[in-house]
Amino acid sequence: MKICILGAGVIGLTTAWCLAEAGYDVVIVDRHASTAKDASAANGAQLSYAFVAPLASPATLKKLPSLLLSRNSPMRIRAGLDPALISWAARFLLACRPGAVRETVAAQLALAALSRSELTRLTQNLRLSFGLRTAGKLVIHRSAREFKTACRSVVAAGEEHGQQILSAAECLALEPALQLDADQLAGGIFTASEQVGDCAAFCAALTVRLRQRRNVEWLLDTPIIGPVRAGGRLVAVDTGKGQIAADHFVLCMGAASGAFARACGFYLPIYPLKGYSITLAPPPQARVLRHSITDMARKLVFAPLARDGRSAVRIAGIADLESNDMTLDGGRIDILRRAAAELLGIEAAGDIAPWCGLRPATPDSRPIIGWSPLEGLFINSGHGMLGWTLACGSARLTADMIERKRPATETSPFALRRAA
Ligand SMILES: Cc1cc2nc3c(=O)[nH]c(=O)nc-3n(C[C@H](O)[C@H](O)[C@H](O)COP(=O)(O)OP(=O)(O)OC[C@H]3O[C@@H](n4cnc5c(N)ncnc54)[C@H](O)[C@@H]3O)c2cc1C
Repeated sequence: MKICILGAGVIGLTTAWCLAEAGYDVVIVDRHASTAKDASAANGAQLSYAFVAPLASPATLKKLPSLLLSRNSPMRIRAGLDPALISWAARFLLACRPGAVRETVAAQLALAALSRSELTRLTQNLRLSFGLRTAGKLVIHRSAREFKTACRSVVAAGEEHGQQILSAAECLALEPALQLDADQLAGGIFTASEQVGDCAAFCAALTVRLRQRRNVEWLLDTPIIGPVRAGGRLVAVDTGKGQIAADHFVLCMGAASGAFARACGFYLPIYPLKGYSITLAPPPQARVLRHSITDMARKLVFAPLARDGRSAVRIAGIADLESNDMTLDGGRIDILRRAAAELLGIEAAGDIAPWCGLRPATPDSRPIIGWSPLEGLFINSGHGMLGWTLACGSARLTADMIERKRPATETSPFALRRAA
């Protein structure tokens, strides 16, 4: 049986691997000449298995006006009256209900745990090298009120996720690279088990392994134009290089998945959420960042990476709703530069590898994994801010569902027809 994977980002590649491993003939199609060129190229590098809170929440709702109106806000909307955004935003508001948030957190934690074990399996079996490290993650809070709320949820979750509550002084002692004064911090939550890894390097290493398989065919540099239907099912896709027929198709086109679904005749609530990153090589005198850091007030992440044998720091964040605009906005990059100076004392000049990408975001932050209303088309997309973290588990679920095996975790929270 032949399965065609639409899109070769981290989601498409991991899905292709699991299906090829299960014995299917797999064909991978992407518009770029190489893999992982879009959202999976230079993301925040955090494998965030314990910290999976969705963007939609009562707290975000409360802060929304100030977030959208402030000039240097990490979030902004510039999409005009885009009907796709209006439908998405209405669902986002519904997803802010406390009950919906609880459901999302429970579902994401289960998928994240599966992803962690699958990533470990793949890394070991295939001997993939991509700087995977259990660096631990420190989430710092500047607002006393928000820190108190975060502490309450750690206490409620119990010891299960190994999260520790730290005072401001303890945060600075744990991570000497932080150049903040204790009075600038309310405190932090540390999770020693969290990991970091370079998503692009992982994709490159997995691509090499996929190329070694006889049951995997590649069609890169091949833009997908639209679906070809016959007898009420998807039988082929139209591409710039002719039609590709298969028995089943898996939609992994990231932020472009919504447009493909529309052409197939159904609504997929996935909207592009634009983010930015820079990657710095700290000067020799700078203290090496040991843990990954999330700055809750600035909504930015800092991750230690190894690049060509040298230590590097990836700084990422920002969530702009601007449709498919891929302009690299210098003002947004400056926010990341200033954060490097303030938090780590690194004056970011010269080669900072500025980058932007479109996260495929669903209103409730959960990916959509399951059969679509169009027969023959399976969806594995919409991983938003956590696609690197959730990729391997989502690929496992996809393969299990296509093989009609009992899935390793509950799949209904990820169905297209869930509540939000
Ligand atoms: C700034 C930023 C920071 C992030 N930080 C983190 C983090 O720290 N941890 C984490 O877990 N996640 C993080 N993410 C999220 C993560 O990077 C994404 O969720 C993930 O990369 C999505 O993968 P994907 O394969 O679905 O999409 P993509 O990587 O975008 O892949 C989609 C593929 O589909 C192809 N495609 C699309 N349209 C067509 C077409 N018409 N024809 C042919 N091919 C097509 C594209 O070329 C692309 O290769 C971050 C994202 C951003 C932007």
